[in-house]
Amino acid sequence: MSTQTEPKLVTQIDFARAGQITPQMKEVAEREHRDPEYIRKRVADGRIAIPANIVHIKKGMRAFGVGEGLSTKVNVNLGISGDKADAAEEWKKVKIAEDFGADAIMDLSNSGKTRQFRQQLIDETPLMVGTVPMYDAIGYMEKPLVKLTKDDLFEVVRAHAEDGVDFMTIHCGINKSVTKTFKETGRLMNIVSRGGSLLFGWMEVTGNENPFYEYFDELLEICHEYDVTISLGDSCRPGCLYDSNDATETAEMIELGKLCKRAWAAGVQVMVEGPGHMALDEIAANMKLQKRLCHNAPFYVLGPLVTDIGVGYDHITAAIGGAISASSGADFLCYVTPAEHLCLPNAQDVLDGLMATKIAAHAADIAKKVPHARDMDDKMGQARRKLDWDAMWKCALDPVTGKKRYEESPAATEGTCTMCGKMCAVRTVNKVFEGTTIDLGMED
Ligand code: SF4
Repeated sequence: MSTQTEPKLVTQIDFARAGQITPQMKEVAEREHRDPEYIRKRVADGRIAIPANIVHIKKGMRAFGVGEGLSTKVNVNLGISGDKADAAEEWKKVKIAEDFGADAIMDLSNSGKTRQFRQQLIDETPLMVGTVPMYDAIGYMEKPLVKLTKDDLFEVVRAHAEDGVDFMTIHCGINKSVTKTFKETGRLMNIVSRGGSLLFGWMEVTGNENPFYEYFDELLEICHEYDVTISLGDSCRPGCLYDSNDATETAEMIELGKLCKRAWAAGVQVMVEGPGHMALDEIAANMKLQKRLCHNAPFYVLGPLVTDIGVGYDHITAAIGGAISASSGADFLCYVTPAEHLCLPNAQDVLDGLMATKIAAHAADIAKKVPHARDMDDKMGQARRKLDWDAMWKCALDPVTGKKRYEESPAATEGTCTMCGKMCAVRTVNKVFEGTTIDLGMED
């Protein structure tokens, strides 16, 4: 008789490796038009992550798959800042994220006591919830940054895990070796990741190694206990075109790849975060390099923004980059709003940023031939051909805005819109094929 006890299966990757298909894998398979075994196999390999904290599952969250062969997921950031703490406005943003098809919400609250908002968010939203514990550490521990200890930081991570956070951005890859490369080679925009800059500052002042790197195994134990997916933060993502694909970004990416393997070995699901700002022609190669160095872990990207001068319109610069990145291998897009680089987004910014990112993700899914990705596009073509406006709203990514604009400008000729009125090309050709009178010009 064996005296060895079987290891406890907790995480999606534990179950997948044991050959078991979880209800979450089934749910992802159904939504993505894939066989459950397709999902299980890739969760076991780390190519797909299903960020679903066991606490949030009990509260009725939906399961989302991020990774190979699946539709590109979209995240909405929100949360109060020290300069603007309006919880009611943040709840409006939650509603927009849920109503307009976001897959995830990251609560980036970074001032004061944030726990109540986070817990209520996890209680109420069925979407994936992500956080960056480093943002919360100062407020949670009520200590200045440089006084925070490794135990303080891990206590914050544990609190977020206990609350039911599904994925956490943790900047584990910025170690002393990476900061040495950064200081030796220099950059135009230095470090633009908020969490990365905090850790860099902490490391420089204390002289210590990044605790999330030094005690990575301890971090993995917390994540395993609750099935928190680690989203390995890219502290050194380029903050301008000039810094993209430089030595510092690449040095950190190599470290992140090593950490992916350690996380998987500990039964913890992983995603890896990416740029940033990057010229259009560099994006595809960067995605391929990242996938290679990080062993095909799901890739979570901010844009990238394809120019640095689109101020006020950065939801567009990011969506252009997002369509390229997602069609070249990125699996998860973090939205960017028109307020990027300027101020905390308001509710309208959130809607504009979400829709721009959804369009980028959807365009990429069509190019990637994700199963059934273009079904709605083909239905939209049919609805337009019939000038069936109600059917058009059902196909639209944002039916509310489309319908509102149409109704604000009533057309004089039935079935058409005020763009062309009686000269509506669709109407004219329909009349030709119906054999009815083409009345154009006769009454004018
Ligand atoms: S009026 Fe012009 S824009 Fe409007 S539906 Fe007809 S062809 Fe399209």
